Amino acid sequence: MSTYDVAVIGSGPGGYVAAIRCAQLGMKTAIIEKYNTLGGTCLNVGCIPSKALLDSSHHYHDAITHFEGHGIEISGDVKANLEKMIARKQNVVDTNTSGIQYLMDKNKITVYNGLGSFKDATHINIAKADGKLEEIEAKNIIIATGSKPSTLPFIKLDKKRVITSTEALSLKEIPKHMVVIGGGVIGLELGQVYKRLGAEVSVIEYMDRIIPTMDASLSKELQKVLKKQGVKFYTKHKVTAVKTTAKEVTITADDKKGNPVEFKGDYCLVSVGRRPYTDGLALDKAGVTLSERGQVEVNAHLQTNVSNIYAIGDVVKGAMLAHKAEEEGVFVAETIAGQKPHIDYNLIPGVVYTWPEVAAVGKTEEELKEAGVNYKSGQFSMRALGRSRASGDIDGFVKILADATTDEVLGVHMVGARVADLIAEAVTAMEFRASAEDIARMSHAHPTYAEAVKEAALDATGKRALHS
Ligand code: FAD
Ligand code: NAD
Repeated sequence: MSTYDVAVIGSGPGGYVAAIRCAQLGMKTAIIEKYNTLGGTCLNVGCIPSKALLDSSHHYHDAITHFEGHGIEISGDVKANLEKMIARKQNVVDTNTSGIQYLMDKNKITVYNGLGSFKDATHINIAKADGKLEEIEAKNIIIATGSKPSTLPFIKLDKKRVITSTEALSLKEIPKHMVVIGGGVIGLELGQVYKRLGAEVSVIEYMDRIIPTMDASLSKELQKVLKKQGVKFYTKHKVTAVKTTAKEVTITADDKKGNPVEFKGDYCLVSVGRRPYTDGLALDKAGVTLSERGQVEVNAHLQTNVSNIYAIGDVVKGAMLAHKAEEEGVFVAETIAGQKPHIDYNLIPGVVYTWPEVAAVGKTEEELKEAGVNYKSGQFSMRALGRSRASGDIDGFVKILADATTDEVLGVHMVGARVADLIAEAVTAMEFRASAEDIARMSHAHPTYAEAVKEAALDATGKRALHS
């Protein structure tokens, strides 16, 4: 039987990063993945394929709506070839997943393909596709088994008409009308993909606003822009039934006043969140406990109730984000190696990759109000930037929330072109506990979208924005 210092179950961004860091720290490491490709949800059916389709559909949308304004004339029709887009997306996925295999080889990490399940707290059975079973022993085990789409109790996901993000990433036709249940990240990103390609898109959201966990100003601005692009929104609607025939889906919901309304579409995307995935792990054999929400329970060291078993990423509490899983992978590897790592969960940024993009870090205004924090706010519109006018991306703003007394930046919230990249400046500033004045006095290259961050900081520190 092969023995290891560390065995990682699951090869998503949490698991593969944990394995690499363990190997870097000199530990003999194995990783177990039930699918044939590495990379987990993020690389196979999540972050990477969704961004590939967002980029392709963005190019198409630009060609049919914005090229003319830029003085580019196309003679003949511009057509969206979904089959080619999906094939390109798969190519991007394959390049990325084989890159993870390369990293495993480079770091001398043993890869096992098969379903991992606990035999006891130090032994794992691996059930391989050919029916063979292999057992390995590990001093430490990291559970990184991620998450799966969740649904509503009365919805039957047939994966043909009533689909999850996984099927939406590989559709064979552009829907005529895609009804999206859930106005969160997945619903808006994939909804925008198909809207750009010509589908009618209706988003049904239970709460009173889309992306309801983000700052309310971001929800309002994004909804306004997506509405202009033709997406229809039904907030405060409670879905009560979903019925399918071979070619049609009928969704019934109670509207704001409690009256039933019906939506008919050819596809229904269910994007109401994801659930932690522990099926088949046989956690009971190792004595590992789950929370009421089905998450593997961990302490501040991401250690389960069994001291040599850790858990990270989507399968534990916290934001279900790839970069959060990665930070936790490094954290656990370093903890096992005897180091004292640290993660500031307040500084894990959140991004929605629609266009305009949405990005945020730190506290929202709603959270500051609820906590009774005395704060001030500075805001700057993208439309006032030379860079935005040059590219034609004038929607959005940057908002900086700072402590009213100390001027320390407490939260940064953005909508606009490339804000997914801009948010890194805010994370860096907040990591170093910058004041709004610190950001306001830093030189920002001109013309860039980043100038909106400086201007918002100037606005926060005594309404000194220079270009508004
Ligand atoms: P996962 O990536 O889910 O990986 C878990 C792995 O464990 C899987 O490969 C699974 O097969 C394997 N596994 C499970 N059980 C076993 C077992 N018993 N034995 C062996 N292997 C097992 N996050 C972002 O930060 N940015 C984004 O842009 C983004 N976009 C997304 C888009 C979509 C459509 C979706 C669905 C998600 C997106 N996410 C995004 C979320 C991101 O994918 C997850 O937060 C991230 O993948 C979690 O990483 P993980 O390592 O915890 O788990
Ligand atoms: P989500 O939590 O982002 O959004 C789910 C939405 O569905 C919420 O707005 C919620 O209020 C709504 N909802 C819940 N029950 C409902 C009901 N009965 N009727 C109508 N609406 C309902 O979840 P998601 O969009 O499914 O994404 C899952 C996870 O994947 C998220 O945690 C997210 O962090 C991650 N993800 C991240 C990215 C990114 O970082 N860009 C992209 C995609 C997915």
